[in-house]
Amino acid sequence: MNINHHLDDATLMSYSAGSLSQGMALVVASHLAFCSACRERAEMNDAVGGVLLESLDAETIEDDMLAAILAQIDEPLERRIVEPRQAIPSLSDPEIPVPLNEYVSGPLDQLEWKRIVPGVAYYDMPWQGRGVSRLLRIAPGKSMLTHTHNGNELTLVLRGSFSDEVGRFCRGDIADLDDQIEHQPLVDSDEDCICLIATDAPLRFTTLFGKLVQPMTGF
Ligand SMILES: [Zn+2]
Repeated sequence: MNINHHLDDATLMSYSAGSLSQGMALVVASHLAFCSACRERAEMNDAVGGVLLESLDAETIEDDMLAAILAQIDEPLERRIVEPRQAIPSLSDPEIPVPLNEYVSGPLDQLEWKRIVPGVAYYDMPWQGRGVSRLLRIAPGKSMLTHTHNGNELTLVLRGSFSDEVGRFCRGDIADLDDQIEHQPLVDSDEDCICLIATDAPLRFTTLFGKLVQPMTGF
């Protein structure tokens, strides 16, 4: 897989520190499943975090707490993605990154997609929490509504491709955007573009239409 767009350092550090929302952590873990370059960076962050903890004055931290923290750091990345973990059998669909397997009920084409407008549908992750966490499916030539963010937004491409003001994003690429960017992704592949999206706050639409449909879509 040829990946051109990667995670920001700040996002990777928040992931290593366990401070991302559940949905954002799922998107990060799914990108890491695709991307060896970001996996190496994440492992380096974990190693640095471990050294920092081990260098702390032993009297300033309870033994039990230190052991628990170090045990968590030693855990392989794949084992501490998001809670709750559910015992759903692993799927053989290669389109779905392993961390996402646990939260979808079948291959992408067999999910119960909910249509927002013609050519745009979504599938929500099975939890309610901070921000938004869902799969988004957009038909060729369609664009998502122009929006900015109250917080960060992560978008991982699972199928197809889109372009926006930042560049072109294909399978495995991640758009790691902060609240400074206003963008309107346009699907430029021949097939539907399917992305895993998470935000840590609701999106803020900048068009009148977007503002009108926002109460319906929950974005
Ligand atoms: Zn990467």
